[in-house]
Amino acid sequence: MAAFVEDAANAVLAAAKDMLARGLVEGTAGNISARTEDGNLCITPSSIDYAAMTLEDLVTVDPAGKVIAGTRSPSSELALHLACYAAYDDIGSVIHSHPVHATMFAVTHEPIPSCIDEFSIFVGGEVRVTEYAASGTPELGSQAVAALKDRGAALIANHGMVAVGPTPDKVLHITALVERSAHILWGARLIGAPHPLPDDVNANFAGVYGFMRTYKG
Ligand code: 13P
Ligand code: ZN
Repeated sequence: MAAFVEDAANAVLAAAKDMLARGLVEGTAGNISARTEDGNLCITPSSIDYAAMTLEDLVTVDPAGKVIAGTRSPSSELALHLACYAAYDDIGSVIHSHPVHATMFAVTHEPIPSCIDEFSIFVGGEVRVTEYAASGTPELGSQAVAALKDRGAALIANHGMVAVGPTPDKVLHITALVERSAHILWGARLIGAPHPLPDDVNANFAGVYGFMRTYKG
């Protein structure tokens, strides 16, 4: 059975407000979803202020993307979220964000190397960059699925980040960790040449947090 989130609506709403408070998005950018026990998705609405967002604003869609409950339009990145759940049974939540430092790497199409131990544990290794695909398209979804293989996060070229994992709070943690690492690397490169982790570190940590998932894409 695919992974799912208990009390998905409250978990999505809390993570959405936390994402804004942590500065991982600006305005109404970004979006969050969680899979429910029946296989449907609870997702944030498109272009609604996170500070004012309530449970009533969240939208429920089936795995094909059909709206089942809610009065708002689902996020314009619904295809991205659907593609991730369809490809990976072991994820319960997807978060798309626009953090500043991670997006610097996304704009330069440069992967974020795994440079600190905790990054390796929670993200699974270097964060890849997708090929460019326009916002809201199914192509962006398939690009993200490929870049997420055995990873907790991927960079979306010229756009931002997508992270996946068991629950919205855990995926928000991954998002913040990738952003923090991008910030550290940006500064470290001004000081000198960052030293990569020893070769065996990623191999030793891989799977500690459960990111050696079965790839179905
Ligand atoms: P939504 O407000 O439609 O979720 O879109 C935000 C976004 O980040 C689009 O890429
Ligand atoms: Zn976006």
